[in-house]
Amino acid sequence: MLYRKVPKTGDELSILGFGCMRLPAKKSGSGIDEDRAIRQLRYAIDHGVNYLDTAPAYHFGRSEQLLGRALEDGYRNKVRLATKLPPWSVRSREDMDQILDGQLATLKTDHIDYYLLHSLTRESFDHLKKLGVLQFLSQAKKDGRIRYAGFSTHADLPAFKEIVDAYDWTFCQIQYNYLDEKNQAGTEGLEYAHGKNLAVMIMEPLRGGNLGGPVPEEVQKIWDKSPVKRSPAAWAFRWVWDHPEVTVVLSGMNDEANIEENLKTAADAYPRSLTEEELVCISSVRDTYWRLMKVGCTGCRYCMPCPAGVDIPGCFSLYNAHHLFPHDRSAKFQYFGHHGGLMGGVSYAGLCKACGKCEKACPQHLPIRNRLKDVSKEMEGGMRLIIPVLKGGLWCMDKAKKLKGIFIPD
Ligand code: SF4
Ligand code: SF4
Repeated sequence: MLYRKVPKTGDELSILGFGCMRLPAKKSGSGIDEDRAIRQLRYAIDHGVNYLDTAPAYHFGRSEQLLGRALEDGYRNKVRLATKLPPWSVRSREDMDQILDGQLATLKTDHIDYYLLHSLTRESFDHLKKLGVLQFLSQAKKDGRIRYAGFSTHADLPAFKEIVDAYDWTFCQIQYNYLDEKNQAGTEGLEYAHGKNLAVMIMEPLRGGNLGGPVPEEVQKIWDKSPVKRSPAAWAFRWVWDHPEVTVVLSGMNDEANIEENLKTAADAYPRSLTEEELVCISSVRDTYWRLMKVGCTGCRYCMPCPAGVDIPGCFSLYNAHHLFPHDRSAKFQYFGHHGGLMGGVSYAGLCKACGKCEKACPQHLPIRNRLKDVSKEMEGGMRLIIPVLKGGLWCMDKAKKLKGIFIPD
């Protein structure tokens, strides 16, 4: 494992951080598989990872609880712990203290090493400032409940710079990957923060998993031409780590094989170590993805829930898959199954009532309403007719079985 220093403090952090937003799920599909998650976290720590990032919003509060358990048995002292203040839960200065004190209890610790204001926008930052958040952070540092203050954001570059300049932050957290050089804070924001001596933690290095595979044929052909062989995820991580301004790259790991691979990739990911040829290869992949991808949705789910019941990221994900893998027809079938009501409730794009609520919450600033219209047009042709017929068929089969059970017992 390689380590990079936090500019203002000299604290040495592993370049690979464990993001606790996507912990492994139970086989039943509901809730975290806690024993497996704890094994994974401790394995990563035993192999050099010393930065763990969580938030009250992750897994509906269960992520912090799980970390509290995972860091027992001496593991707390081996790591720097990062968690966040959720602006949407704060109505007063007292709320801030109450939330932080609750987090300390849940995480079973007497201090948070890296404490962030979660997903700041210009508006949420103004709201928090009016309630005294900057005084709160300074007080919490002074009384030892937190060591360093920072913020995470998906805001655009001007808002990002304003937030950077508003306080003596130790660090910030931004979305960054080879598709997002000019999106949100982007490369200019990364360099700006670094220029102000902030450590920069990176989220979404795989853009919601999209860059980690499976890879479209056209993209794979480009990777295959490179004399250096890497998995798509390793290429994406190496590109981010190639920037010396980056301190930690967070990966939402939940699979043993991915953890192993990421640890291996992090072992020699020195800054400015990619060759000109490798950078050209990544650039060509970037252009191809932008050409193939229909909607730049990262699956963050900040737009949810939709009052009309649309599963916005779910619809976009299958729509993108439908275009990225044109030979594979399964995306359309999955769309029918998951969103058309065949396997439960309906959540398809055509339900959108165009209220606009989701667009205000989307950190990617996507024109969600218009894109959902495209999804509906392309993915739902005939679906609303076919689904009732299929459901009717299933209902009849079910009834027939029951009748058989009554009149023709085995
Ligand atoms: S605009 Fe459509 S998708 Fe977005 S929240 Fe409103 S109804 Fe839901
Ligand atoms: S539409 Fe926007 S807010 Fe919703 S999941 Fe996608 S990127 Fe996130």
